[in-house]
Amino acid sequence: MAATGAAGDPVRIGVLSVQGAFAEHVSLLRSLGADPIEVRLPQHLAGVRGLVLPGGESTAMRRLIARWELREPLLALLRSGIPVLGTCAGMILLAREIEGGDEPVLPLLDVTVRRNAFGRQLESFETDLAVPALGDAPVHAVFIRAPVIARTGPDVEILARLPDDRIVAVRQGPILATAFHPELAGEPRFHRILLALAAEIPPDAGSGPR
Ligand code: GLN
Repeated sequence: MAATGAAGDPVRIGVLSVQGAFAEHVSLLRSLGADPIEVRLPQHLAGVRGLVLPGGESTAMRRLIARWELREPLLALLRSGIPVLGTCAGMILLAREIEGGDEPVLPLLDVTVRRNAFGRQLESFETDLAVPALGDAPVHAVFIRAPVIARTGPDVEILARLPDDRIVAVRQGPILATAFHPELAGEPRFHRILLALAAEIPPDAGSGPR
């Protein structure tokens, strides 16, 4: 399936690229037929019809988002309803609440996240997860110093849990978030949902800086 909008043009997806694992998202999106653009400055958001917030270090990312004055334009785009996929640190950026009292950054997703939820012994691990919303084949999930979701609001659909019941993937309308890194395992199904939603956004709705 090529990721094209109504006019047949490739769908432009902004990948926040101030820090972290953005390159893998860019190549996965390209392999799915999208038109990914690395976002480091507000003007890179022009024409964007969907967003990816990658994994990395959310403390560094929040600083860089402030330094490059990306917060307001990102919030404006998200509030306009464009779809977004946040992975790991990207999920932390989207959370309405962060345990421990860190200031939320782009608080559109009605969840509370717990950062670095797996302790030292388990800094990273991989596992196969059932994600019924994506079909029968399990998702190979790579967790790296990963958060978990400690609370979900009433509009949040739980997409995946670990065997111990902790929540690791959710959806709230056009907002998708995973505690793990689908892009590091070549798992395309979350990105495909993002592209399908983005293809419905009119090309001129993705506005740049206002
Ligand atoms: N531990 C990181 C944080 O709290 C997230 C790790 C990741 O994105 N792989 O920001």
